[in-house]
Amino acid sequence: MSIPTSVLAELLHAIPNWRPQMYFKSSLVALSHAMEDQVLAGNGSPLVIATFQRERFYRQEAHRYRRIARQTDQVYVLSAPETDFKNQSGEYETIAFDGEDGLTHEWHLVVITQQYANCLICRERASQRESQKNGMDSNRRFEGIWTSDQGVCEEAAKILLERIVQYRPELTEKVNTAKSLYLQEVPEELPTGPQQFPTNNPDPFVNRLVNYLQVGQYKLMKAYRAIASQEQKERLIHLMTVAIRRSLDPQKILEVAVEQLGQVLGACRSIIYRCGEADETATITHEYLRPKIPTVQGETWLLQQNPFFQTVLETRESLLVKEVANHPSLEESPQSMQNLVKQANITSWLFVPVLYQGRLIGMVELHHCGTVPDEWAKEEIALVEAVANQVGVALIQAESYASLEVLNQQLEELDNTRSNLVAITGHELRTPLSTIQICLESLASEPDMSPELRQVMLNTALADAERMRTLVQDFLTLSQLESGRVEWNPEPLSMYECVELGVSHIRSHTVQSERPNLEVSVPENLPLVQADGEWLVEVLTKLLDNANKFTSVEGEIAIAVQPIANQMLQVTITDTGRGIEPNRLETVFDRFYQEEGALQRTTGGTGLGLAICRQIVQRWHGKIWAESEGKDKGSQFHFTIPIARSASQSKSKSNSKSVSKSKSTGSSHKTKSQSRKGTNSKQ
Ligand code: ADP
Repeated sequence: MSIPTSVLAELLHAIPNWRPQMYFKSSLVALSHAMEDQVLAGNGSPLVIATFQRERFYRQEAHRYRRIARQTDQVYVLSAPETDFKNQSGEYETIAFDGEDGLTHEWHLVVITQQYANCLICRERASQRESQKNGMDSNRRFEGIWTSDQGVCEEAAKILLERIVQYRPELTEKVNTAKSLYLQEVPEELPTGPQQFPTNNPDPFVNRLVNYLQVGQYKLMKAYRAIASQEQKERLIHLMTVAIRRSLDPQKILEVAVEQLGQVLGACRSIIYRCGEADETATITHEYLRPKIPTVQGETWLLQQNPFFQTVLETRESLLVKEVANHPSLEESPQSMQNLVKQANITSWLFVPVLYQGRLIGMVELHHCGTVPDEWAKEEIALVEAVANQVGVALIQAESYASLEVLNQQLEELDNTRSNLVAITGHELRTPLSTIQICLESLASEPDMSPELRQVMLNTALADAERMRTLVQDFLTLSQLESGRVEWNPEPLSMYECVELGVSHIRSHTVQSERPNLEVSVPENLPLVQADGEWLVEVLTKLLDNANKFTSVEGEIAIAVQPIANQMLQVTITDTGRGIEPNRLETVFDRFYQEEGALQRTTGGTGLGLAICRQIVQRWHGKIWAESEGKDKGSQFHFTIPIARSASQSKSKSNSKSVSKSKSTGSSHKTKSQSRKGTNSKQ
């Protein structure tokens, strides 16, 4: 059987001038025990009605009721059953009500004797947040009436007896007996009584005692709250420290912080973002949201328009704006700021700066949303500040770790370069050196050697000397480029001529029957480019050289030039050769990178060519990259080069400087020669 209405409400309705009083659970326990003891110590046979919220509370007191039942047969105990509590007529009457019944929130004890009456009719406060937060059962709060006013006690007994009959109709007769024995004719007007407890109680000593009890409990509750808040603070800090220790990833640490803050402090939204002192904007990177609150994650906020942010920046202290909507600073701020407040639905706003050595590096914000402004207590703000300190440490630590990682990576690269250099010098320098030595020794020690063999020896020595010279030359070139110690003379140049020079280098260094077919596609109306001719030819030569090296005689090489966006030309050298694995497309530009390693080289080379090309292209703010569909699928090397500023009109035919380059000596020089029309030519 379940009746949702409240007995307290019914009673208050009957005695409209009475006001309920707040009681801690501990006070109610003391009062109930005192009332029960008074019954046990007396010798009359009273009416006793007791309501317990749950069976477990009743079980703790059952022995008392068995003793009380020895004195009177008018004892009624009501409770919500949990195990074996049920409607029963034994030593006394037990009345079981449903778990959903209004009585599950109430606590009643009514004692009426011939000499006196006492009653306690209370209801637990709806919000359990406080007691749950404090985690202390004795701090549970009730409100209601405790009095020895005869009229009020009888009214309470009447309401309860009527309920009992509703739950257990078979008790009607017994209840009627109780009514006739203990309840006088209900007067027309119930006692109006004084408004405030405890003057409604005749015994001032008892009243004072109850007051002391209440005050004591209140102090206990306050002390407990302080301890709980300290505990919460320590727990949060501990959580943050663990997160920082476990992970150097600032993202994870900020995620933990934002979520814990939002949950513990009951915010609708909590956010953390990085920001510097001079930053104009900040992007909201971390957010915790209560359900149905609009997200602001990923948004970019204008910091300079936010008057609250600016105040925090100036004072370096936390700022709580309880009522954002009516704040004068907001009214004076730009419309976009007011829109932000509306869209994010911010009613109350807490800013806590994340500082490191006095420098602002981020911000923690808590928002209350909706129509009713709220605030955070001092100790709660102190908690956010403590967390903000940890966030600061985490951010700085993570930054240092990131730079350390970069440094480590650089060191690793340096180490790789060093080992590559050792391997290269071992192979590329020692091998030709030994060959040269053997050739020269044979020439010196074998005067009778045939002139043909002599020539072969000389040619071999010369070729290997050339290989060594190239390596040394490339190495010096790259060092100079990397250290910025190169002469750099940009000027308007004809792309066509530069391509021609690169191509002629290939032609002069290879036999036609031993090289793949080379196709040149340079459109007629190409604008002049702005570059240093010597270095441009160097790039073209190296790329063509590679295409030639890594493509079989049956294959094809093509060079094409075309204008692209941003006043640039794009040069593409395509071959049908051995191709590059997709994960190597970037690595090939590393210094000393050679796919098969220096020791297995069949094609020669230093592993420095592409690194040199990248250095050169970057000097004119261009880009160079490789494309390939993989092994044996050919490769494409592209680079971009800026068009000369005055060249949009002047095409390659006029005013261009011509470049020639002597690659064999490794030095280059510019000469004037007639520029030629762009053509498509097959070599
Ligand atoms: P190397 O002197 O070894 O050619 P590079 O820096 O010019 O040095 O090239 C580095 C590496 O990139 C080469 O050893 C080769 O493995 C790869 N590579 C360069 N160009 C091509 C190409 N056209 N086709 C296939 N692989 C290439």
